[in-house]
Amino acid sequence: MIYLDNNATTFLDPTVSKQIISLMERNLGNPASTHRLGQEAKEILFQSRRAIASFFQVKESELLFTSSATEALSTLIRGMPRESEIITSNLEHLAVLEPLKERGSKVTYLAPKLGYGSITLDQIEQAVTSRTELIILMGANNETGIITDFEQIADFAEKRGIFFIMDAVALLGKEPVPFPLPQGVTAAVFSGHKIHAPVGIGLAIVRKKFPFMPLIFGGGQQEGKRGGTEHVIGVAALAAALKALEPISSITTSIRQLRDRFEDALLASLQPIVIHGKNERRVSNTSSIAFLGVDGETLLMQLDLAGVATSHGSACSSGGISSSRVLQNMGISPKEAQSTLRFSLSRFTTKEEIDKAIHIIIDIVSRLRKIT
Ligand code: PLP
Repeated sequence: MIYLDNNATTFLDPTVSKQIISLMERNLGNPASTHRLGQEAKEILFQSRRAIASFFQVKESELLFTSSATEALSTLIRGMPRESEIITSNLEHLAVLEPLKERGSKVTYLAPKLGYGSITLDQIEQAVTSRTELIILMGANNETGIITDFEQIADFAEKRGIFFIMDAVALLGKEPVPFPLPQGVTAAVFSGHKIHAPVGIGLAIVRKKFPFMPLIFGGGQQEGKRGGTEHVIGVAALAAALKALEPISSITTSIRQLRDRFEDALLASLQPIVIHGKNERRVSNTSSIAFLGVDGETLLMQLDLAGVATSHGSACSSGGISSSRVLQNMGISPKEAQSTLRFSLSRFTTKEEIDKAIHIIIDIVSRLRKIT
Protein backbone atom coordinates (compact mmCIF):
# COMPACT_ATOMS: atom_id res chain seq x y z
CA MET A 1 0.00 0.00 0.00
CA ILE A 2 1.24 3.51 -0.81
CA TYR A 3 0.33 5.40 2.34
CA LEU A 4 -0.56 9.04 1.65
CA ASP A 5 -2.70 9.65 4.73
CA ASN A 6 -0.10 10.77 7.24
CA ASN A 7 -2.24 13.65 8.52
CA ALA A 8 -4.70 11.06 9.83
CA THR A 9 -2.00 9.04 11.54
CA THR A 10 1.60 7.99 10.90
CA PHE A 11 3.36 4.65 11.07
CA LEU A 12 5.87 4.14 13.83
CA ASP A 13 9.42 5.30 13.16
CA PRO A 14 11.60 2.15 13.43
CA THR A 15 13.75 3.82 16.12
CA VAL A 16 10.58 4.55 18.09
CA SER A 17 9.23 0.99 17.81
CA LYS A 18 12.62 -0.37 18.86
CA GLN A 19 12.50 1.87 21.92
CA ILE A 20 8.94 0.78 22.76
CA ILE A 21 9.69 -2.93 22.40
CA SER A 22 12.81 -2.74 24.51
CA LEU A 23 10.92 -0.90 27.28
CA MET A 24 7.97 -3.30 27.11
CA GLU A 25 10.32 -6.22 27.58
CA ARG A 26 11.86 -4.65 30.67
CA ASN A 27 9.03 -5.16 33.20
CA LEU A 28 8.92 -1.58 34.35
CA GLY A 29 7.39 -0.65 37.69
CA ASN A 30 5.11 2.24 38.50
CA PRO A 31 7.20 5.46 38.56
CA ALA A 32 5.58 6.28 41.92
CA SER A 33 6.89 3.06 43.54
CA THR A 34 9.94 3.27 45.74
CA HIS A 35 11.47 -0.07 44.76
CA ARG A 36 14.10 -0.42 42.07
CA LEU A 37 11.71 -1.22 39.20
CA GLY A 38 9.64 1.84 40.05
CA GLN A 39 12.71 4.00 40.29
CA GLU A 40 13.89 2.75 36.89
CA ALA A 41 10.58 3.79 35.36
CA LYS A 42 10.84 7.16 37.12
CA GLU A 43 14.31 7.66 35.66
CA ILE A 44 13.08 6.88 32.11
CA LEU A 45 10.26 9.36 32.61
CA PHE A 46 12.69 11.95 33.97
CA GLN A 47 15.14 11.57 31.07
CA SER A 48 12.38 11.59 28.45
CA ARG A 49 10.73 14.63 29.99
CA ARG A 50 14.07 16.43 30.03
CA ALA A 51 14.71 15.58 26.33
CA ILE A 52 11.23 16.78 25.34
CA ALA A 53 11.60 20.04 27.28
CA SER A 54 14.95 20.57 25.61
CA PHE A 55 13.48 19.92 22.14
CA PHE A 56 10.78 22.55 22.68
CA GLN A 57 13.12 24.84 24.67
CA VAL A 58 10.68 25.05 27.59
CA LYS A 59 10.83 24.22 31.29
CA GLU A 60 9.98 20.67 32.29
CA SER A 61 7.23 22.06 34.53
CA GLU A 62 5.57 23.49 31.39
CA LEU A 63 4.95 20.03 29.90
CA LEU A 64 1.65 18.24 30.35
CA PHE A 65 1.38 14.71 28.98
CA THR A 66 -2.07 13.52 27.98
CA SER A 67 -3.58 10.60 26.08
CA SER A 68 -4.08 12.66 22.91
CA ALA A 69 -4.17 16.16 21.50
CA THR A 70 -7.93 16.01 21.94
CA GLU A 71 -7.55 15.52 25.69
CA ALA A 72 -4.93 18.30 25.85
CA LEU A 73 -7.26 20.74 24.04
CA SER A 74 -10.24 19.81 26.23
CA THR A 75 -8.09 20.34 29.33
CA LEU A 76 -6.92 23.77 28.24
CA ILE A 77 -10.31 24.96 27.07
CA ARG A 78 -11.88 23.81 30.33
CA GLY A 79 -9.28 25.86 32.20
CA MET A 80 -10.76 29.17 31.05
CA PRO A 81 -13.38 30.75 33.30
CA ARG A 82 -16.87 30.31 31.84
CA GLU A 83 -17.49 34.00 31.45
CA SER A 84 -14.38 34.63 29.32
CA GLU A 85 -14.87 35.65 25.71
CA ILE A 86 -13.03 33.56 23.15
CA ILE A 87 -12.06 34.01 19.50
CA THR A 88 -11.52 31.00 17.27
CA SER A 89 -12.27 30.03 13.66
CA ASN A 90 -14.61 27.75 11.77
CA LEU A 91 -11.56 25.97 10.30
CA GLU A 92 -10.60 24.36 13.61
CA HIS A 93 -10.56 20.66 14.37
CA LEU A 94 -13.57 19.25 16.23
CA ALA A 95 -11.23 18.70 19.19
CA VAL A 96 -11.43 22.50 19.58
CA LEU A 97 -14.96 23.23 18.37
CA GLU A 98 -16.77 20.62 20.47
CA PRO A 99 -15.33 21.53 23.90
CA LEU A 100 -15.93 25.20 23.07
CA LYS A 101 -19.56 24.44 22.30
CA GLU A 102 -19.90 22.50 25.52
CA ARG A 103 -18.63 25.43 27.63
CA GLY A 104 -21.47 27.71 26.62
CA SER A 105 -19.42 30.93 26.89
CA LYS A 106 -19.30 33.65 24.23
CA VAL A 107 -17.24 32.44 21.30
CA THR A 108 -16.61 34.33 18.04
CA TYR A 109 -16.04 31.94 15.13
CA LEU A 110 -14.09 33.75 12.44
CA ALA A 111 -14.35 32.61 8.83
CA PRO A 112 -11.37 33.04 6.51
CA LYS A 113 -11.55 35.82 3.93
CA LEU A 114 -12.69 34.63 0.53
CA GLY A 115 -9.82 32.93 -1.28
CA TYR A 116 -7.84 32.32 1.93
CA GLY A 117 -7.38 29.22 4.05
CA SER A 118 -6.41 30.77 7.37
CA ILE A 119 -7.32 33.59 9.71
CA THR A 120 -5.28 36.78 9.40
CA LEU A 121 -4.07 39.19 12.07
CA ASP A 122 -6.32 42.02 10.87
CA GLN A 123 -9.36 39.78 11.34
CA ILE A 124 -8.28 39.08 14.91
CA GLU A 125 -7.66 42.80 15.54
CA GLN A 126 -11.16 43.60 14.35
CA ALA A 127 -12.81 40.84 16.39
CA VAL A 128 -11.06 41.51 19.70
CA THR A 129 -13.01 43.39 22.38
CA SER A 130 -11.98 44.51 25.84
CA ARG A 131 -13.52 41.28 27.16
CA THR A 132 -11.59 38.87 24.90
CA GLU A 133 -9.47 36.58 27.06
CA LEU A 134 -8.47 33.80 24.70
CA ILE A 135 -7.61 33.23 21.04
CA ILE A 136 -7.48 29.61 19.94
CA LEU A 137 -6.29 28.76 16.44
CA MET A 138 -4.50 25.97 14.64
CA GLY A 139 -0.89 26.48 13.59
CA ALA A 140 -1.59 24.66 10.33
CA ASN A 141 -4.75 23.19 8.93
CA ASN A 142 -4.83 19.40 8.88
CA GLU A 143 -6.86 19.28 5.64
CA THR A 144 -5.13 21.89 3.49
CA GLY A 145 -1.78 22.32 5.25
CA ILE A 146 -2.23 26.11 5.16
CA ILE A 147 -0.22 27.78 7.93
CA THR A 148 -1.73 30.45 10.18
CA ASP A 149 0.38 33.58 10.72
CA PHE A 150 0.74 32.45 14.31
CA GLU A 151 3.90 34.49 14.92
CA GLN A 152 2.07 37.78 14.24
CA ILE A 153 -1.02 36.67 16.15
CA ALA A 154 1.17 35.62 19.10
CA ASP A 155 2.83 39.05 19.16
CA PHE A 156 -0.53 40.75 19.12
CA ALA A 157 -1.89 38.47 21.87
CA GLU A 158 1.20 39.14 23.98
CA LYS A 159 0.84 42.91 23.61
CA ARG A 160 -2.87 42.82 24.44
CA GLY A 161 -2.49 40.39 27.35
CA ILE A 162 -4.76 37.79 25.70
CA PHE A 163 -4.10 34.07 26.08
CA PHE A 164 -3.34 32.26 22.83
CA ILE A 165 -3.69 28.48 22.49
CA MET A 166 -2.18 27.04 19.33
CA ASP A 167 -3.29 23.64 18.05
CA ALA A 168 0.08 22.70 16.55
CA VAL A 169 -0.83 19.10 15.68
CA ALA A 170 -0.60 19.58 11.90
CA LEU A 171 2.47 21.80 12.11
CA LEU A 172 4.97 19.77 14.11
CA GLY A 173 7.39 17.82 11.95
CA LYS A 174 6.00 19.32 8.76
CA GLU A 175 7.56 22.75 8.96
CA PRO A 176 10.82 23.95 10.50
CA VAL A 177 9.19 25.92 13.31
CA PRO A 178 11.81 27.46 15.62
CA PHE A 179 11.52 26.64 19.30
CA PRO A 180 10.85 28.12 21.74
CA LEU A 181 7.55 29.25 20.28
CA PRO A 182 6.90 33.00 20.48
CA GLN A 183 6.17 34.20 24.04
CA GLY A 184 2.64 35.14 23.01
CA VAL A 185 1.75 31.46 22.53
CA THR A 186 0.50 30.71 26.03
CA ALA A 187 -0.16 27.05 25.30
CA ALA A 188 0.48 24.69 22.38
CA VAL A 189 -0.79 21.20 21.70
CA PHE A 190 0.85 18.26 19.91
CA SER A 191 0.01 14.64 19.15
CA GLY A 192 2.44 11.70 19.17
CA HIS A 193 0.71 9.64 16.51
CA LYS A 194 1.11 12.41 13.92
CA ILE A 195 4.91 12.30 14.22
CA HIS A 196 5.60 8.55 14.09
CA ALA A 197 5.07 7.84 17.81
CA PRO A 198 2.11 5.64 18.80
CA VAL A 199 -1.49 6.64 19.45
CA GLY A 200 -2.03 7.28 23.17
CA ILE A 201 0.39 10.11 23.87
CA GLY A 202 -0.42 13.81 23.53
CA LEU A 203 1.34 16.87 24.84
CA ALA A 204 0.44 20.39 25.89
CA ILE A 205 3.03 23.03 26.57
CA VAL A 206 1.41 25.28 29.14
CA ARG A 207 3.13 28.47 30.17
CA LYS A 208 2.78 29.56 33.77
CA LYS A 209 0.41 32.44 33.17
CA PHE A 210 -2.30 30.20 31.68
CA PRO A 211 -5.22 29.57 34.12
CA PHE A 212 -4.80 25.83 34.42
CA MET A 213 -7.51 23.48 35.64
CA PRO A 214 -7.10 19.70 35.49
CA LEU A 215 -9.57 17.63 33.52
CA ILE A 216 -8.65 14.37 35.24
CA PHE A 217 -8.20 14.16 39.00
CA GLY A 218 -6.50 11.31 40.80
CA GLY A 219 -3.25 10.46 42.50
CA GLY A 220 -1.57 13.85 42.05
CA GLN A 221 0.64 12.77 39.15
CA GLN A 222 2.22 15.45 36.93
CA GLU A 223 2.15 17.91 39.84
CA GLY A 224 -1.60 17.40 40.15
CA LYS A 225 -2.21 18.58 36.57
CA ARG A 226 -3.45 15.19 35.34
CA GLY A 227 -4.30 12.24 37.52
CA GLY A 228 -3.36 8.75 36.36
CA THR A 229 -0.12 6.75 36.34
CA GLU A 230 2.17 8.33 33.78
CA HIS A 231 2.42 6.63 30.39
CA VAL A 232 6.16 6.06 30.73
CA ILE A 233 6.55 4.17 27.46
CA GLY A 234 4.41 6.71 25.59
CA VAL A 235 6.49 9.61 26.91
CA ALA A 236 9.72 7.79 26.02
CA ALA A 237 8.33 7.07 22.55
CA LEU A 238 7.43 10.73 22.11
CA ALA A 239 10.97 11.74 23.10
CA ALA A 240 12.39 9.30 20.54
CA ALA A 241 10.00 10.54 17.83
CA LEU A 242 11.02 14.15 18.48
CA LYS A 243 14.69 13.24 18.36
CA ALA A 244 14.11 11.66 14.95
CA LEU A 245 12.70 14.98 13.69
CA GLU A 246 16.15 16.50 13.64
CA PRO A 247 17.38 18.12 11.46
CA ILE A 248 13.88 19.31 10.70
CA SER A 249 14.75 21.67 7.83
CA SER A 250 16.37 18.97 5.70
CA ILE A 251 13.52 16.54 6.50
CA THR A 252 10.86 19.03 5.42
CA THR A 253 12.86 20.08 2.35
CA SER A 254 12.86 16.51 1.05
CA ILE A 255 9.18 15.99 1.81
CA ARG A 256 8.34 19.28 0.06
CA GLN A 257 10.32 18.26 -3.02
CA LEU A 258 8.33 15.03 -3.29
CA ARG A 259 5.03 16.83 -2.66
CA ASP A 260 5.85 19.40 -5.37
CA ARG A 261 6.85 16.64 -7.79
CA PHE A 262 3.49 15.01 -7.10
CA GLU A 263 1.49 18.22 -7.61
CA ASP A 264 3.43 19.27 -10.73
CA ALA A 265 2.80 15.90 -12.39
CA LEU A 266 -0.92 15.98 -11.65
CA LEU A 267 -1.21 19.62 -12.76
CA ALA A 268 0.49 18.74 -16.04
CA SER A 269 -1.72 15.73 -16.81
CA LEU A 270 -5.10 16.08 -15.15
CA GLN A 271 -6.56 19.52 -15.84
CA PRO A 272 -8.97 20.74 -14.62
CA ILE A 273 -7.72 20.33 -11.06
CA VAL A 274 -7.42 22.80 -8.18
CA ILE A 275 -4.77 22.60 -5.47
CA HIS A 276 -6.24 24.33 -2.45
CA GLY A 277 -3.92 26.90 -0.90
CA LYS A 278 -1.22 26.37 -3.53
CA ASN A 279 -0.12 30.00 -3.31
CA GLU A 280 -0.41 30.27 0.45
CA ARG A 281 2.15 29.39 3.12
CA ARG A 282 1.67 25.64 3.43
CA VAL A 283 3.33 22.83 5.37
CA SER A 284 5.62 20.56 3.36
CA ASN A 285 3.61 17.35 3.34
CA THR A 286 -0.01 18.16 2.52
CA SER A 287 -1.77 18.43 -0.79
CA SER A 288 -5.50 19.02 -1.00
CA ILE A 289 -6.61 18.53 -4.58
CA ALA A 290 -9.98 18.93 -6.28
CA PHE A 291 -10.28 16.70 -9.34
CA LEU A 292 -13.07 18.60 -11.04
CA GLY A 293 -15.79 16.44 -12.53
CA VAL A 294 -14.88 13.45 -10.35
CA ASP A 295 -16.69 12.23 -7.25
CA GLY A 296 -14.14 12.22 -4.43
CA GLU A 297 -15.69 9.28 -2.63
CA THR A 298 -15.55 7.08 -5.73
CA LEU A 299 -11.98 8.18 -6.40
CA LEU A 300 -10.97 7.40 -2.82
CA MET A 301 -12.36 3.88 -3.11
CA GLN A 302 -10.81 3.26 -6.51
CA LEU A 303 -7.44 4.43 -5.21
CA ASP A 304 -7.79 2.18 -2.19
CA LEU A 305 -8.42 -0.80 -4.50
CA ALA A 306 -5.38 0.19 -6.55
CA GLY A 307 -3.18 0.38 -3.44
CA VAL A 308 -3.13 4.10 -2.61
CA ALA A 309 -4.40 5.20 0.82
CA THR A 310 -5.60 8.79 0.97
CA SER A 311 -8.49 10.69 2.50
CA HIS A 312 -11.59 12.66 1.73
CA GLY A 313 -12.55 15.35 4.26
CA SER A 314 -11.26 14.81 7.76
CA ALA A 315 -11.38 11.03 7.97
CA CYS A 316 -9.36 10.76 11.17
CA SER A 317 -12.11 12.24 13.30
CA SER A 318 -15.10 10.43 11.92
CA GLY A 319 -14.44 7.36 9.83
CA GLY A 320 -17.54 8.57 7.99
CA ILE A 321 -17.33 10.40 4.72
CA SER A 322 -18.87 13.77 4.04
CA SER A 323 -17.88 16.76 2.01
CA SER A 324 -15.30 18.79 3.91
CA ARG A 325 -16.62 21.47 6.28
CA VAL A 326 -13.21 23.18 6.24
CA LEU A 327 -13.15 23.54 2.45
CA GLN A 328 -16.72 24.82 2.39
CA ASN A 329 -15.87 27.34 5.11
CA MET A 330 -13.08 28.54 2.81
CA GLY A 331 -15.76 29.43 0.27
CA ILE A 332 -15.20 26.37 -1.91
CA SER A 333 -18.42 25.04 -3.45
CA PRO A 334 -19.85 21.77 -2.06
CA LYS A 335 -19.29 20.19 -5.48
CA GLU A 336 -15.62 21.13 -5.57
CA ALA A 337 -15.19 20.06 -1.95
CA GLN A 338 -16.81 16.75 -2.83
CA SER A 339 -14.27 16.21 -5.62
CA THR A 340 -11.33 16.91 -3.30
CA LEU A 341 -8.92 14.38 -1.80
CA ARG A 342 -6.18 15.05 0.73
CA PHE A 343 -2.77 13.49 0.16
CA SER A 344 -0.37 13.69 3.08
CA LEU A 345 3.21 12.49 2.86
CA SER A 346 5.76 11.65 5.53
CA ARG A 347 9.54 11.44 5.62
CA PHE A 348 9.14 7.72 4.88
CA THR A 349 7.34 8.35 1.58
CA THR A 350 9.68 7.46 -1.28
CA LYS A 351 10.12 8.88 -4.78
CA GLU A 352 9.16 5.47 -6.20
CA GLU A 353 5.92 5.51 -4.25
CA ILE A 354 5.10 9.03 -5.41
CA ASP A 355 5.79 8.17 -9.05
CA LYS A 356 3.66 5.07 -8.79
CA ALA A 357 0.86 7.00 -7.08
CA ILE A 358 0.99 9.66 -9.83
CA HIS A 359 0.48 7.00 -12.51
CA ILE A 360 -2.36 5.33 -10.65
CA ILE A 361 -4.14 8.64 -9.97
CA ILE A 362 -3.81 9.82 -13.59
CA ASP A 363 -5.15 6.51 -14.81
CA ILE A 364 -8.14 6.36 -12.45
CA VAL A 365 -9.14 10.03 -12.70
CA SER A 366 -8.99 9.88 -16.52
CA ARG A 367 -11.17 6.75 -16.51
CA LEU A 368 -13.70 8.23 -14.07
CA ARG A 369 -13.94 11.41 -16.13
CA LYS A 370 -14.68 9.37 -19.26
CA ILE A 371 -17.49 7.49 -17.50
CA THR A 372 -19.13 10.68 -16.20
N1 PLP B 1 -5.94 18.94 15.98
C1 PLP B 1 -5.67 18.68 14.70
C2 PLP B 1 -5.32 19.81 13.78
C3 PLP B 1 -5.72 17.37 14.22
O1 PLP B 1 -5.45 17.12 12.93
C4 PLP B 1 -6.05 16.33 15.12
C5 PLP B 1 -6.17 14.94 14.62
O2 PLP B 1 -6.34 14.71 13.46
C6 PLP B 1 -6.29 16.64 16.46
C7 PLP B 1 -6.23 17.96 16.85
C8 PLP B 1 -6.60 15.58 17.46
O3 PLP B 1 -5.46 14.78 17.70
P1 PLP B 1 -5.55 13.39 18.50
O4 PLP B 1 -5.84 12.33 17.49
O5 PLP B 1 -4.19 13.23 19.13
O6 PLP B 1 -6.60 13.54 19.52
